Amino acid sequence: MIGRAIRGAVFFMVLVWGVVSCGNGNEPGMATEVPLDTVSETKEPLPEYAYGFCLDSFKIVKDTVQKNQVFSDILLPHRISWGEMETIDTRSEGIFNINRDLRPDQKYQVLCGKDSIGKAEVLIYEKNAIEYIVFDLRDSITVRRESKDVEVVEKEMAGIIAQGSSLSATLYDSLKNASVSESLVDEIADVYAYTIDFFNIKAGDRFKVIYEEQYVDEKLVGRGAIRGVYFHHNGVEYYGIKFMQDSAWAYFDENGKGLKKAFLKAPLKFSRISSGFSKRRFHPVQKRYKPHLGTDYAAPTGTPILSVADGTVVAKGYGKGNGNYVKIKHNRSIATQYLHMSKFARGIKKGMRVKQGEVIGYVGSTGLATGPHVCFRFWKSGRQVDHRKEKFETSDPIKEANREAFNATREKIKKRLDDILIPPTDLVSERWTSSR
Ligand SMILES: [Zn+2]
Repeated sequence: MIGRAIRGAVFFMVLVWGVVSCGNGNEPGMATEVPLDTVSETKEPLPEYAYGFCLDSFKIVKDTVQKNQVFSDILLPHRISWGEMETIDTRSEGIFNINRDLRPDQKYQVLCGKDSIGKAEVLIYEKNAIEYIVFDLRDSITVRRESKDVEVVEKEMAGIIAQGSSLSATLYDSLKNASVSESLVDEIADVYAYTIDFFNIKAGDRFKVIYEEQYVDEKLVGRGAIRGVYFHHNGVEYYGIKFMQDSAWAYFDENGKGLKKAFLKAPLKFSRISSGFSKRRFHPVQKRYKPHLGTDYAAPTGTPILSVADGTVVAKGYGKGNGNYVKIKHNRSIATQYLHMSKFARGIKKGMRVKQGEVIGYVGSTGLATGPHVCFRFWKSGRQVDHRKEKFETSDPIKEANREAFNATREKIKKRLDDILIPPTDLVSERWTSSR
């Protein structure tokens, strides 16, 4: 989703380079460097051992689940009886529902006896790239869940946003061309959702990121979290440090402030709610029932109206119903709107960044209003919702008890981020990979 959002918004080229790093070498297998370009679909020769079985002692049938194929279709051709099917069903309980959990395109292997009968002895079903189910059909039937060894490789990447010349690529496309995955772009955007306006990325902005990739049998199967990220935007440096506080992972700036900020509860400091959010209310001016997709806060004309969070002004205007209004986008999915203003705050204009608590206008009764109030509208993914019923993920600052541990993590991550080199600016859209 953010990919789309960024795609539509930014027209710059990005220079990116990636550095494969070995991290601290503590984790098993960390020393193996896996260049991004070579890990795709390479066909491995059949290994002697797989899933904990010596494959040489079986006749192997490898396949993928077909559309409309059911569980019995896989085993009945290999001399498993209906009676045995029933036992498998019972023994799978709580591990795998053979009537519901089979998914088309998932891989499976049937390990059959090498004799002339060739009866199925083991079925291995790959639930996903990491997890698999072992149906051991020998003797008393057993079913168990297993997972493959996952190798975590830590990677570093850096990029600079250059002014587009003939090539007008979007941030998203540039990153993708430079082998930055959509999910990584997505995660970077998530970390900074409340701090950086990704619709306002500028030439010269740069980023560095330390992130994890998961490999199974040298094949990339997933990307873990970002451990640390740096964004230099509009002359300001933003660090994002991953740290666990109260058994939950969150991102903090270098001072230990949480990067996920709460919204102000109301756009006015002192006010009373004169009309709540309602799907059906009697309109005081139009004298008929219609939905009221906002919350009215009554206050004297001229009371300052505050932006409930950092954001960008995306609309400032006048409407017959709305009167003078301002709309602010806070992150990729949330925007707020403030109606019936008597006047706008000085200097407020479209495209401008505003801070949480900043005055954006003053209470009034322009448009369809019986008295001075601000009609506050909260947009979530394009829909108006009752903000008082929404639960938002916020992150508290680092607590005193965790300060020392956080500082240690921050120093380590920050130093590593600072050591990552930004690619030279005269190289356009090329990706650099090197060992450090
Ligand atoms: Zn209203």
